[in-house]
Amino acid sequence: MRRFDAVIFDMDGTLIEPLLDFRALRDELGVRPDAGILEDIASMPPAQAEAAHRKLLERELSAAAKANLMPGAAETISAVRLAGMKTALLTRNAAPAMQRVLERFGELRFDLAWSREDGPIKPEPDGILRACATLGVRPERTACVGDFHFDLIAARAAGAVSVLLATGERPAFADEADHVIRRLRELPALLGIAPPDGEKSPRQGSKTPRPDGEK
Ligand SMILES: [Mg+2]
Repeated sequence: MRRFDAVIFDMDGTLIEPLLDFRALRDELGVRPDAGILEDIASMPPAQAEAAHRKLLERELSAAAKANLMPGAAETISAVRLAGMKTALLTRNAAPAMQRVLERFGELRFDLAWSREDGPIKPEPDGILRACATLGVRPERTACVGDFHFDLIAARAAGAVSVLLATGERPAFADEADHVIRRLRELPALLGIAPPDGEKSPRQGSKTPRPDGEK
């Protein structure tokens, strides 16, 4: 029997390249280094918060216009859909930035796609729980794939299975993930479904995957 009925994907750093330099962005917006950007903006005085939101949206739109797909993103999503599983996109990005990405990459197909306007956002579990209810799947049979700590916290709080995509150095919070993958193409095997078309499983493959997850 299939172990999962749905996969919920994060966007930045998971399906598209992480172009936003969060450290620089925090400096520019006046956000504390250890705080969530959106959470810290919410605690600013209204005028400052509005200016910060405007700047953030500008940066998000520019990243959405330029970012490439992460290696294997389209093939992995299509393998998941082909296996009969539901797919969802859940991002802390603003809706216009998410829409931009979906328009640029029509091959990214989801049963639902929610941005921060559809909040409460990660690390809160609400988005995952509502997505599961909307898709008619149980959280414990849902895999949540993301590259950041908030993705793992939200998945755990929702009772879903967390999958950390760590393409570079293994982050300290990796121990909190149920599973860690180094590239998206490892996901079908983890889900117990057939690999994307034309992909060989790592055991049959002629190439050893490099630590950076790229060919
Ligand atoms: Mg991310």
